[in-house]
Amino acid sequence: MPTLNNIRSTFLNYFAKQGHEIVPSSPLVPRNDPTLMFANSGMVQFKNLFTGVEHRDYKRATTAQKCVRAGGKHNDLDNVGYTARHHTFFEMLGNFSFGDYFKENAIPFAWELITKELDIPKDRLLVTVYHTDDEAADIWKKVAGLSDDRIIRIPTDDNFWMMGPTGPCGPCSEIFFDHGDKYWGGPPGSPEEDGDRFVEIWNLVFMQYEQFEDGSRTELPNQSIDTGMGIERVAALLQGTNDNYATDLIRSLIEASADATSTDPDGPGSVHHRVIADHLRSTSFLIADGVMPSNDGRGYVLRRIMRRAMRHAHLLGAKDPLMHRLVPSLVNQMGAAYPELNRAQALIEETLKLEETRFKQTLDRGLKLLDDELSSLPDGAALPGEAAFKLYDTYGFPLDLTQDALREKGRTVDTDGFDAAMAEQKAKARAAWAGSGEAADAAIWYDLGETHGATDFLGYDTETAEGQV
Ligand code: ATP
Ligand code: MG
Ligand code: MG
Ligand code: MG
Repeated sequence: MPTLNNIRSTFLNYFAKQGHEIVPSSPLVPRNDPTLMFANSGMVQFKNLFTGVEHRDYKRATTAQKCVRAGGKHNDLDNVGYTARHHTFFEMLGNFSFGDYFKENAIPFAWELITKELDIPKDRLLVTVYHTDDEAADIWKKVAGLSDDRIIRIPTDDNFWMMGPTGPCGPCSEIFFDHGDKYWGGPPGSPEEDGDRFVEIWNLVFMQYEQFEDGSRTELPNQSIDTGMGIERVAALLQGTNDNYATDLIRSLIEASADATSTDPDGPGSVHHRVIADHLRSTSFLIADGVMPSNDGRGYVLRRIMRRAMRHAHLLGAKDPLMHRLVPSLVNQMGAAYPELNRAQALIEETLKLEETRFKQTLDRGLKLLDDELSSLPDGAALPGEAAFKLYDTYGFPLDLTQDALREKGRTVDTDGFDAAMAEQKAKARAAWAGSGEAADAAIWYDLGETHGATDFLGYDTETAEGQV
């Protein structure tokens, strides 16, 4: 049974054989790209090659890219613990052509890799194409011999990729695996497509056009290829499960979490172990790439993920900081492929331990307050915004942590009320600062948080929250 580490090398070696340069993953913090919080796909490090701004001495590349999707356009944070196939941190395997080959090669490469190298049975596979992309549909038919009902035409943006409002864009083709009718779900494009039966494993993007400001498009002179395959999803199907969390690497982290808390990995606390295993990977890799927990920007996303994990550890009954004790298992699993984890191991452990020690004091009290609030509310009522704000302001609970806690109970937060309480506190602070004669600076200080907030990565600035330092 191929392990996740085997699959990574099979993929990279296959594309190396096809004349691709094996390029290392870029760091999670993109260089020179303030519009993007974290690398969230393989193409991020190659943007300038696709637009033609930069040239390198290779026209074909292949990577295993570290990705984090916990904010911005792609935010899978709320999927963790709920779907079998989403993580905040995952590895995306990709092959890229910079003005070299196009669809006529990209599709046969993909098909050969999954059916010959990885031996995935053909009758479990189906593909989507953009509804007008006859060319891709014809190639699939010829190369894979798929019947028409297994080449699904999708008219939505899901199958049309754009780098931004202008620039390279084009149709995509996604490859799905059918885990069988013991799982709920329908094929892509059907109303049940969000189920766990049909899982998207690989997305092929055909950069065919250039889009201009007025909305018009022309064919790119050098058409390019960008693909992304989720390694954990492929590991799952090759290991005979539809659950990414049951695969070798992630399962070993779940077992480490169960051992450290003397609990059953598959018992009633299993969802906590899943979240912890996922968040352990994203927090450790972020710290290894230089992100530190803080109250704004990337650091606040990291802090939010860490604190969510800590609440789940608390629910498992962990009395002492837990996350830092799991780092050796992660390094053991992934350190060979990502040596930065080895180098940063001490820093990761210390950072997790410190954050967990600090937050523990307010976490226990905050959770008690939350329970008290809930028991005083009518059944099913939303948590009032002021209560969520108090948790945030006094106990250091990011709003999404409170929402995560309530979701288990089928409850929500009155977010309008939360925003109002936040606005009121800011107004008060502004007035106080105005009195001190520093009004101009204060306005800039607060607006900074809001400008960043506009990219919807940051949530809220928390400079007033106790226990957050
Ligand atoms: P989905 O529709 O399942 O959310 P996506 O269309 O958002 O996936 P892409 O942006 O096409 O994903 O990324 C390429 C591949 O990366 C996907 O085909 C999938 O295998 C994998 N992938 C995407 N998001 C995640 C995630 N959060 N966790 C694990 N793998 C992922
Ligand atoms: Mg997605
Ligand atoms: Mg998709
Ligand atoms: Mg996709």
